[in-house]
Amino acid sequence: PVRVRFAPSPTGPLHIGGVRTALFNYLFAKKHGGDFILRIEDTDQNRFVKGAEEYIVESLEWLGIPFDEGPGKEGGYGPYRQSERKDRYREFAEQLVQSGWAYYAFDRPEALDAHRADHEKKGKTFIYNWHNREKLDNSLGMSPEALQFRLDAEDPYVIRFQWPKDQTLEFQDLIRGDIRIDTNTLDDKVLFKSDGMPTYHLANIVDDHLMEITHVIRGEEWLPSLALHIQLYRAFGWEAPQFAHLPLIMKPTGKGKLSKRDGEKMGFPVFPLEWKDSAGYRESGYFPEAVLNFLALLGWNPGTEQELFSLEELIEAFDLERVNKSGARFDPDKTRWYNHQYLQQKSPAELVPEFRRVLEGRHPFPDSLEDAYLERVVALLRERADFLKDIWEQGSYFFRQPEAYDEKAVRKQWKEGTPQVMARLADLLETRDDFSSEHLETSVKDWIGASGLSFGQVMPPLRLVLVGAMQGPHLFDIMGLIGKDETVGRIRLAID
Ligand code: GLU
Repeated sequence: PVRVRFAPSPTGPLHIGGVRTALFNYLFAKKHGGDFILRIEDTDQNRFVKGAEEYIVESLEWLGIPFDEGPGKEGGYGPYRQSERKDRYREFAEQLVQSGWAYYAFDRPEALDAHRADHEKKGKTFIYNWHNREKLDNSLGMSPEALQFRLDAEDPYVIRFQWPKDQTLEFQDLIRGDIRIDTNTLDDKVLFKSDGMPTYHLANIVDDHLMEITHVIRGEEWLPSLALHIQLYRAFGWEAPQFAHLPLIMKPTGKGKLSKRDGEKMGFPVFPLEWKDSAGYRESGYFPEAVLNFLALLGWNPGTEQELFSLEELIEAFDLERVNKSGARFDPDKTRWYNHQYLQQKSPAELVPEFRRVLEGRHPFPDSLEDAYLERVVALLRERADFLKDIWEQGSYFFRQPEAYDEKAVRKQWKEGTPQVMARLADLLETRDDFSSEHLETSVKDWIGASGLSFGQVMPPLRLVLVGAMQGPHLFDIMGLIGKDETVGRIRLAID
């Protein structure tokens, strides 16, 4: 059975790239009837950020891609936080020392810094490997007694992986294809730290193995670690999962990797949910369906022209073979376009609760407004909106009198006789019992004809007093919706 995992480090906000990784894992799992696991990689205590894990869990819930196993959702492979598994890692690191794949290194950080500086002076990069291992302070070439002495003295040490010399490693990535690497270029990475914690590499491999992960789907930034990970599986004698590295997400210009700063510059948050000061997708009014849909197409394509996909359709269509190798350009306009599409697609009734939340706290929003009223406002205005909040911004006249009248429109539409015409119209409207849009349209049109007025003398100034500007949907629809008292009241207010 397919088992995949999303393995974020709780070091801060969840980046768009992280959410895409989660989504692709989810889609792959569901497509193959497998399980999607959340594992929290919190072995680096210095970078731990309080609340970040809750935030990740909440993000996945909001997006509608829940995990099958993870913290608080035991599936027989827990615990799912690495900090709660920390006792397991040391024995694995020591196992590698026993089998000759790793060694103890006692080098002080200052000593390593000095080596680095020394190399730099000669224009070289310092790599801890076959080149200079012998000159450094490690257990290679140390007698068992000498080593035991150092260990007994509690001399701080790390455990490093020992790369073999002069070998070419060959392995596959489901997206990148065949990869070959010369082991002489590789660094003897630290597997176990002096603070008694494993590094990401060791913990990641041990946990993927113990959790029986079948496919590792993650961002391209981890590709440089792949050789080490594959070799660790070989060293342990374990079967490795299959790997798929997703393409980078690029700036809207296509040049360079997308960063947090890009989001800020576009006035558009890169993060999907609120994090401290930066508002995210949810706060900006995005629908989770729209976020999922645009993320799915960041690096994957269905091979058809189809752009709109429900989550079920994505699961059906998703295939790692259609994930691109090249970077995926992030396009904020397209992102908005997706939201616009979902705003049109949903039923107005379904949108009401969220629209009510948008309106709450805006002045003056009467709580007493009925769902049916909000539903009609949404239906009338959404065509020109990308977000529910746009409907408030473009249609505040459905909730209050215009705060001002557009000056240009006043100059153009408010003529000498206008107040008198408006007064007569208000009188007429006051006598109407049926205030439906259809009925109003016939009776106002009849009245205009009978009184020898022109449409231009009545309708534009009427729109101005009701809306405050020359915009908005069909005027009789507006009147029908805001009702008699409000309509007549606004006319009288304007001519007072
Ligand atoms: N903890 C790593 C991260 O934060 C996981 C990388 C992986 O999936 O192997 O992205």
